[in-house]
Amino acid sequence: MIRYPISLTDLKTRISTLKPTWFTRAKAVVDGLPVRPKSSDFDGLWSEIKDLYIELLHSKCVFCEQQLEGRITQDVEHFRPKAAVQHWEPPPDLVAAGLVVAQPADGKAEPGYRYLAYHPLNYATACKNCNSVFKGNLFPVAKPRKTEAKKPPGRTTELPYLIYPIGDDGDDPETLITFVGCVPQPAKPSGHDRLRAQATISIFKLDDSVERGIFYEGRARAISALFLNLNAIDNRTDPVIVNAAKKNVQSMLRDSAPFANCLRCFHRLYQSTPAQARQIFVDISTYLDTVSP
Ligand SMILES: [Zn+2]
Repeated sequence: MIRYPISLTDLKTRISTLKPTWFTRAKAVVDGLPVRPKSSDFDGLWSEIKDLYIELLHSKCVFCEQQLEGRITQDVEHFRPKAAVQHWEPPPDLVAAGLVVAQPADGKAEPGYRYLAYHPLNYATACKNCNSVFKGNLFPVAKPRKTEAKKPPGRTTELPYLIYPIGDDGDDPETLITFVGCVPQPAKPSGHDRLRAQATISIFKLDDSVERGIFYEGRARAISALFLNLNAIDNRTDPVIVNAAKKNVQSMLRDSAPFANCLRCFHRLYQSTPAQARQIFVDISTYLDTVSP
């Protein structure tokens, strides 16, 4: 994950420019909702502004940073679920690490955030696996849930466990999640920010090379390609190749590149501890031999 800085004002202006009556129609839907709305009570107006989020996020999944093509492969994700919040059973290692979820003990779903169904800072575009399979209607928090909030609560209000990276006050995932090779890890040594990283990695299975095999392999191939380009620059054999490699490296580290957080971490490692980066490249090559010999 990486951050996508944009102010709420800019986002609203972009939406109004694209669809001048969008906010008026969205307000009418919210005003007409029952107290406990079902998913089907919401008009899917968010699909009208999906392209705006696809462009803002460089056509990448907000959570796993895979490159996605077109509207069909990506969903508009409601960060805080609009109709109901599903119970989340955190894995034992996170419970042992101190993660506590403020949720009903009986495992029942809670009401969703109906007033945030059309809030521009409650949307992101995500791949279907991250949105539909892994996140669904999860939104674990450490403090009591503010389901009646009219705007997304500040991060200290509910202490959410998931990371939302859009907005000028959005989370900066690169300060929360770091990578050792292909493997995402919490960047902070302790505290709620460490638990946020752990919960995000766990819910989206960002470290699962089996269940998310193709995605994980893609990340490994990107690191391998980055290493080979960095190596070609260092070897300075052929100026044509060195120039091409420099351009490749630049493009692989941009916000718009797939797996940008992961590749930036690897690039920093290559610069600070090249022997360790080389060992990771060797290990990744071995892994890639096993998945596609
Ligand atoms: Zn994804």
